[in-house]
Amino acid sequence: MKLGEFKLVAVEDGTFRLDGGAMFGIVPKSLWSKIDPADERNRILIALNPLLVRTGTQNILIDTGLGDTRGRKFDDLFDVNCGKLLKSLEVLGTPANKIDIVILTHLHFDHSGGTVRRADDNSLETAFPNAKYVIQKGEWEDAHNTNEVTKGSYLPEELDVIDASGQLELVEGNCEIAPGVRAAVTGGHTKSHQVVLIESGGQTCVFWGDLIPMSAHVNMAYIMSYDLYPVETLEQKRLWLQQAIEGEWVSYFEHDPRVTFARLVRGKRRINVEKLSPDRADYS
Ligand SMILES: [Zn+2]
Repeated sequence: MKLGEFKLVAVEDGTFRLDGGAMFGIVPKSLWSKIDPADERNRILIALNPLLVRTGTQNILIDTGLGDTRGRKFDDLFDVNCGKLLKSLEVLGTPANKIDIVILTHLHFDHSGGTVRRADDNSLETAFPNAKYVIQKGEWEDAHNTNEVTKGSYLPEELDVIDASGQLELVEGNCEIAPGVRAAVTGGHTKSHQVVLIESGGQTCVFWGDLIPMSAHVNMAYIMSYDLYPVETLEQKRLWLQQAIEGEWVSYFEHDPRVTFARLVRGKRRINVEKLSPDRADYS
């Protein structure tokens, strides 16, 4: 999709499954299962769709999906069907070595897993050899100082590959990453979670990350149980959704198997999601 002078392309890494109850927090299954039916293990389908931003001078990738470096036990638990990111980028004509910047909203494995790949000798190496990896310093620290709750979401040994390669660029707080591309820290999901705002020609697209992972989460009460600070998520959603609606921004839902690009419109009782035609195949 065109956004001013920029081209935005949804990139496919694949899908996996997470517990439906955890994805929708306090919302009862009798309600969420109408929009998103669960499988026999109570899991719902989650897409992994990083976003490629072609600015004309730089190729920027936002989040990297799950990658394919985990073992069979992990793959069974989460019904993993991914690891297509590098191939997808190649097909789109922007292979991994042409990516200049990788921005990570946060470092949970389903966002950062694709930052690395297996080399021929089975060791791990960075998947984007010429990119700088832009990450919030607070998130980096939290990924390396986990507790009983946060431990299962991070893969610090993979992150250390980025550090060792010299490609790591830690930032603190809101910042411009490239002309027209800036990060805004929202917290909520994790303490230093950030959304990415892309602006060109008077138009804005917001990459929600896990602040609003799927289009169903535009509903205020739909907040993931994975969120460490759910009240902050609520406050941030209220703030950012209002701006997105008033500014007629394009929304990008990274985890929604049915909607990637959309415009949000305030209805009488709820926010309506108007799907925009995506630059990729639909999963449904
Ligand atoms: Zn997350």
